[in-house]
Amino acid sequence: MEHFPLFLNLRGRRVLVVGAGLVAARKIALLLAAGARVTVVAKVAHPSVQADAQRGQIELHLCAFDAQWLQGVWLVIAATSDEALNAAVAQAAAERQLWCNVVDDAARSSAQVPAIVDRAPLTIAISSGGAAPVIARRLRERVEALIEPSIGWLTALARRQRAAIRRARPELGARRRFYHWLLDGPVHDALRAARPEAAEALLEEALRTSEPAPQGKVLLVGAGPGDPGLLTLRGLRALHEADVVLHDRLVSPEVLQLARRDALQISVGKTPGEDHEATQRRIHALMIHHASQGRTVVRLKGGDPLVYGRGGEELLALRAHGIAYEVVPGITAALACGAYAGIPLTHRAVADTLTLATAHRREQAEHAGAPSQNTRVYYMGVERLAALSAELMRDKLPADTPCALVENGSRTHQRTLHATLATVAVQAKMHAIAAPALLIVGEVTRLGRTLAWFGETLTPDHTRPGAVRAAALAA
Ligand code: SAH
Repeated sequence: MEHFPLFLNLRGRRVLVVGAGLVAARKIALLLAAGARVTVVAKVAHPSVQADAQRGQIELHLCAFDAQWLQGVWLVIAATSDEALNAAVAQAAAERQLWCNVVDDAARSSAQVPAIVDRAPLTIAISSGGAAPVIARRLRERVEALIEPSIGWLTALARRQRAAIRRARPELGARRRFYHWLLDGPVHDALRAARPEAAEALLEEALRTSEPAPQGKVLLVGAGPGDPGLLTLRGLRALHEADVVLHDRLVSPEVLQLARRDALQISVGKTPGEDHEATQRRIHALMIHHASQGRTVVRLKGGDPLVYGRGGEELLALRAHGIAYEVVPGITAALACGAYAGIPLTHRAVADTLTLATAHRREQAEHAGAPSQNTRVYYMGVERLAALSAELMRDKLPADTPCALVENGSRTHQRTLHATLATVAVQAKMHAIAAPALLIVGEVTRLGRTLAWFGETLTPDHTRPGAVRAAALAA
């Protein structure tokens, strides 16, 4: 974190503004809105600043800046067009350990003024740390559109009722559920409909009745392949509701960050020396334990929970214990890797069937369409690449069948290796491809050489993707 965000209570506190032009006038208006006592020092003042002074809203001194003005001040804003003067103000403030914002000068500022979404008492501040204020302002516009004005009214209502809510719901979990109900239920609806009295009455009535015993449940959620943008909205919602998150190692940190901050996060991946069955038993026991205590448990799995995720077994265990569950699908690695490597998994006249398979248990018969028009995707294949490709060639796939190995699909360090069945194992070793990686076999992978758009593309002849693309276009 480059800057520590902090909300200042300026009510009744003195703030010094040096400069009284238009830029200063905007800052003065903000400071007054926050209830600060504003002193302005400037040689000349914009008429709007003069008007503020005449109305008695600010104290205006038309004179040169002097360090003595910093006496009794909590915060300093330097907003003159004179760089040397701004620097002198910042320096004088620093000597007295006062926070100072120099407008449009991140390097000289010890404090930044963020872009603000005001839904008082709710305030959202966005800062780029002075790196690109325009980007912060653009984000602010989006957030403005996202946060309904009724959120501010709801927050004000919650503030008025805070003590009563605390008394009626002394336990933290119950209180949190109550706030969720406020946001999602009839109280917020009434505020949206501009019926504040009805909203207050609904809230008070709910506080008079005791909370129905919470029902624990498990949400089996697919986290997608890594890019947090590929998490579904339902998945995101589940992460916000979770009391406990049980996640696999495959789930990316970016996705985990989206979980409720005070949710208990437990990594339930296989531990050294533990066999797969023991891991699975431990996961079942954890889910059942937490859900039986009335908690909302999110069981978070990479990709889709029901594709090579043992999710089915977990649901059976929950059913056997009478625990309620929901399933939120995720984007499975095959779909994500295809998309992010520019490989259409089916393509007219090239492939019309798709097989999802695991590189393990290849001895089991493969029921796929005509070999030449089938795309095969192998999960968990990195360690078995040599054996797998040999088996496929024995199964009468030509040695020059094109294939693509996608490592870290959809993540920023994605690499796609294009090869043939005969060369893929050696090439993968050469490029030190490691798990998680997915092998796509079939004619469609050729298209990926032309359509690649994300991450790094490695081709056996070491030509860069750009060169391949140019060659393809020329052909
Ligand atoms: N339930 C998951 C699959 C779990 S099995 C899903 O639906 O995607 C684990 C295997 O999935 C890995 O060995 C790898 O083959 C594949 N995999 C998962 N995430 C991947 C990613 N981001 N990039 C490439 N392969 C991935």
